[in-house]
Order: sequence, then structure tokens, then C-alpha cells
Amino acid sequence: MKLKVQELGKKGIVPSLAAVLVGDDPSSIVYVNMKRKACEEVGIISHLYHLPSLSSEEEVVELIKRLGEREDINGILIQHPLPPHMDEMSVFSAIPPEKDVDGLSPLSLGKLVFGRPTFVSCTALGVIELLNHYNIQIEGKEAVVIGRSIIVGKPIALLLLQYNATVTICHSRTQNLWEKTKQADILVVAVGKAEYVRGEHIKEGAVVVDCGYNRPPGGGKNVGDVHFPSAQEKASYITPVPGGVGPMTIAMLLKNTVKSAEVSI
Ligand code: NDP
Repeated sequence: MKLKVQELGKKGIVPSLAAVLVGDDPSSIVYVNMKRKACEEVGIISHLYHLPSLSSEEEVVELIKRLGEREDINGILIQHPLPPHMDEMSVFSAIPPEKDVDGLSPLSLGKLVFGRPTFVSCTALGVIELLNHYNIQIEGKEAVVIGRSIIVGKPIALLLLQYNATVTICHSRTQNLWEKTKQADILVVAVGKAEYVRGEHIKEGAVVVDCGYNRPPGGGKNVGDVHFPSAQEKASYITPVPGGVGPMTIAMLLKNTVKSAEVSI
């Protein structure tokens, strides 16, 4: 990535990312800082716009529109979640499609539904990159995704579908969840509950991708949505937390930002 950024630099282009953070959610602050640090390491300029949690939706939309017009900014990232008084769809809609490096605007998501995405959610892209990197066959496999959020579950499910998996999406109203997870050749967990999925919920030999990143109730090191010690006994492949999907998400953000800079040439 550093080399790509240097090559662009020779053409007079320095990729830049604007991160918009609304409020003081401690996890969001940590994530944004990790993303900024990663940008700096490869030579991408990063700007942080940190707004108070009581900002109005109009103020946030206005800022995004201004960033959208700036030629020196290639990518715009809105750190999720937004405060509850904001309509996410309205805010994400303000990102120009060519700068939507986290693929969350209605247009980007719609293009993903059509199977012709430009930018895809960095977490979803990171999951697919991991599967591809380890030559894990997706086509024809039973894939089960736990979670249907706009940022993680839905885009992952859509990408798996695009790669010709048979996809089941589970959520809080799903009946007999564990019957479904035990059918999965590929199990992607984005439920937001610490160590929720355990070895006994997993088919022998399954590929388990843990998107979670949770503070355990009693404190201590962050853990995933999967109970790693029991799950690794069953899985043929499993992503660790930390060190699995999280760093991939950041890597995909850098990749998408560079892509948006290349498109701007
Ligand atoms: P959300 O809280 O937005 O979504 C959680 C999903 O899980 C919802 O669809 C919910 O269903 C479903 N769910 C909740 N309880 C159950 C249950 N008992 N059984 C089945 N489904 C259930 O979380 P996110 O999608 O934002 O994040 C998911 C996880 O991924 C979190 O741990 C988060 O920290 C992590 N994350 C990691 C990132 C990374 O870079 N690695 C980036 C973003 C998130 P319903 O829709 O019905 O409410």
C-alpha cells in the first residue's frame, strides 16, 4: 500500500481521508485513531472532524457536503454508530459516491445489490479478502451470517451471495439459531455479543469468521463474538480477535481510499 501511495505521489496525488466522528463513544474514538494511525503509516493524509454528540443532523450533512466538494479530499468515512437522533440514511446519502470509501451510502449499497459494487463496506470486503487469501471456496457453500446491520451483516451477506454461496442471514428474531449455525460451511458472526457463539454451535470443519470486538462484561482484553477456545476445536479455519477482521477492515479502508484517489486522476 505504501508503494502505491508513493507511486501516486509521483503523479502529484496524495490520497486523503476525512473521518467524521459524532459524539464521544469511547470505542469509536479508539477506532478512528487506529484508522488515522494506519493512514499516516502508509502516507495517506487523514483529517478528523469530531463533532459534539448533540450536533444536529443538518450540521453533519452540511459538513459532509462541504467535504464532498473539496478537491483535496478523496475519501469520506463516517464513524458508525451515529447518535440515535440522526437518520443514518440521510447522513450517508450526503457522501458523494466517488468518495464513499466505506460503501454505506444508499447508492453504494444499491450497486452492491445489483452485483456491481464500486465501494463496499470495509469490514465486509475484509472478510471476503481473508477467505480469498486462504483459498477458501465460497461458491456453492452454505454460508450463515449472524447479524443484519447495514455496516457489517448485510454487506457481508450480499458479497457472499455474489460469490455464489447459499446465504442465510440470522438476527435477533431468528428461531432455532443454533440449528442454522450448525449447517454452516462458512459462519460469519457479527452479533455484537461477547463470545456468544461457542464450539457446540459450529459444524465440524466449518470456516468461522468473527467480526466482533467487545469489551467483556468483567473488563479485561477485548474479545470477539465467538468463544475462540471452544470454537477452534471445531473449526477448520477461524479468525482471532484481536488480529483478524479488525486489521483487515483498516487495510480495506486504506485500499478504498487509494482507489478513490486513483479514480480522481
Ligand atoms: P449491531 O448491533 O448493529 O447488529 C447486531 C446484529 O446482531 C443485529 O442484526 C441483531 O439483530 C443481531 N442480533 C442481536 N442479538 C442476536 C441474537 N441473540 N441472535 C441472533 N442475532 C442477534 O452490530 P454491528 O453489526 O455494528 O457489529 C457487530 C459486531 O461487529 C460487533 O461486535 C462490533 O463491535 C463488530 N464490528 C467490528 C468491526 C471491525 O472492524 N472488526 C466494524 C464494525 C463492527 P436485529 O437486527 O434483529 O436487532
